[in-house]
Amino acid sequence: MIKVNLTEVQKTIPSHVKLVAVSKTKPVSDIQEAYDAGQKVFGENKIQEMVSKYDALPKDIEWHMIGHLQRNKVKHMAHFVSLIHGVDSFKTLIEINKQAEKHSRVINCLLQAKIANEDSKFGLSFTEIEAILNSNELKSLKNVHVSGLMGMSTFTDSKLQILNEFESLQCFYLKMHKTHPNLKILSMGMSGDYQLAIEKGSNMVRIGSSIFGVRNYNA
Ligand SMILES: *Cc1c(COP(=O)(O)O)cnc(C)c1O
Repeated sequence: MIKVNLTEVQKTIPSHVKLVAVSKTKPVSDIQEAYDAGQKVFGENKIQEMVSKYDALPKDIEWHMIGHLQRNKVKHMAHFVSLIHGVDSFKTLIEINKQAEKHSRVINCLLQAKIANEDSKFGLSFTEIEAILNSNELKSLKNVHVSGLMGMSTFTDSKLQILNEFESLQCFYLKMHKTHPNLKILSMGMSGDYQLAIEKGSNMVRIGSSIFGVRNYNA
């Protein structure tokens, strides 16, 4: 039985857009199936869950942490995580830097922008992101590399609102890119809105339920 709907999703994504298969709550066997079908990049939103899956699965998988971070748990993934999407404070960057240094690694991070009109979503304002990118303190963190921005749209039926939110982040990203050419990743788009995100310049989409089916709890 084919549980994983990977190839159908891949067909809808242009080649310049990187697909992160969001495997949170799904068993190792589902991830292995997607891996066998060629998918090597997976996203999880809980550090413990990602660590146990990392331990159980092939080591050439690229693991992305897409969830809100608990600083005290960063140490558990510092030896292998390849991209952290949801960085929303300078304090978190300091902790990632500290843990990465212990493993002589440079960990790639995305700063999460709050573009949704919802209190439940985390993220920094554009002003705060700009301040972090321009700060001398960031230059002193040798073991983190801010490689782009991430955002989530409001959970709404209004296509126009979603497009406007993605467009606001696209404009800000392009503006920042002029002075910070190291920003290369714009992570926007999930199962319900990734086509709109790609229209607005996303080059990394995080897709879970369209690949693995609906989750049995809201994670
Ligand atoms: C769960 C999650 C996704 C994937 O959501 P789907 O709607 O299942 O595609 C993407 N990004 C983040 C941050 C998530 O938590």
